[in-house]
Amino acid sequence: MISEWAYPRPEGLYIAPLDAYIDPVRPVARALITHGHADHARAGHGQVIATSQTLDIMGLRYGTDFTENAIALDYGQMRSEGAVQITMASAGHVLGSAQIVIDYQGKRLIAAGDYKRKYDPTVTPFEVVPCDVFITEATFGLPVFTHPDPMAEIEKLQNTRALFPHRSCFIGAYALGKAQRVISLLRLSGYDAPIYIHGALRALCDYYETQAVALGTLLPLPEKPRGGANKELAGQIIIGPPSAIGSPWANRLPDPIICFASGWMQVKARARQRSVEVPLILSDHADWTDILQTIEDVNPSEVWVTHGNEEALLYHLAKQGRDAKALAMVGFERAEGDEG
Ligand SMILES: [Zn+2]
Ligand SMILES: [Zn+2]
Repeated sequence: MISEWAYPRPEGLYIAPLDAYIDPVRPVARALITHGHADHARAGHGQVIATSQTLDIMGLRYGTDFTENAIALDYGQMRSEGAVQITMASAGHVLGSAQIVIDYQGKRLIAAGDYKRKYDPTVTPFEVVPCDVFITEATFGLPVFTHPDPMAEIEKLQNTRALFPHRSCFIGAYALGKAQRVISLLRLSGYDAPIYIHGALRALCDYYETQAVALGTLLPLPEKPRGGANKELAGQIIIGPPSAIGSPWANRLPDPIICFASGWMQVKARARQRSVEVPLILSDHADWTDILQTIEDVNPSEVWVTHGNEEALLYHLAKQGRDAKALAMVGFERAEGDEG
């Protein structure tokens, strides 16, 4: 029984034969990390096993001394420790994001971490790996959540811009993953003018470039000695963390059209709350349909659900005759802080 050697503890999901935790929420001796978002990747573990991109991202965010011992394990590589094999499979969530595959005693467990199936030119697509137990997130685990075609959202943005050529266009996007995805989708749509970015996005955008994700010309906002709006930004696209729009930094943007790229933008109240004019429904998580499709594709004998709206998904899976249970994990926000 996999549940005899893989189970939640206050620190995180514990894998007994490795004496290690997956995405632990507090410092532990050994951690396996799925990806670089702050609620999964924390500093201070004795040892960290993750893809080299996730290790690099943790180094950028926390400084290179974020762990005493970093072990890189890339997609498709296998690491044996006694009777246990660890492999990494792409999760399609952000650069470097991995499903952690654990083989032990003839059984296979996959902790998918956060994942998505929709188009994203900045990541390796989600890899379907058969297993016995599949641990899925359920951030958007309600039937109401269906994410539209990403390119259609970009078109919506460009149509609004065309209506207001004298206004600047601010897109709120989280620094790891979403910002680079928005930029890259804009480039694919044929937008090749320079894009202005907030300083908080620079290090990660530069890192994506080193990993062969082409983002085109990204400029800092021009300085304005006496404050006030910078007229040359009219008609331009500016991307920054969502919080930037309430800061003095935003005073430099002439009459900005406020856009926000997040799966939560499907909830009209949330868009209104943030005074968002153009909600861009762009999520780095699987929507309801894609969660169900993924479970069908992976076809595990058991599903463990974590990290979001567990109840509806458990109910639906039970109706399908699937063996499913909630995995009560602490410390994960409902993807508000860093992602969505
Ligand atoms: Zn994430
Ligand atoms: Zn997450």
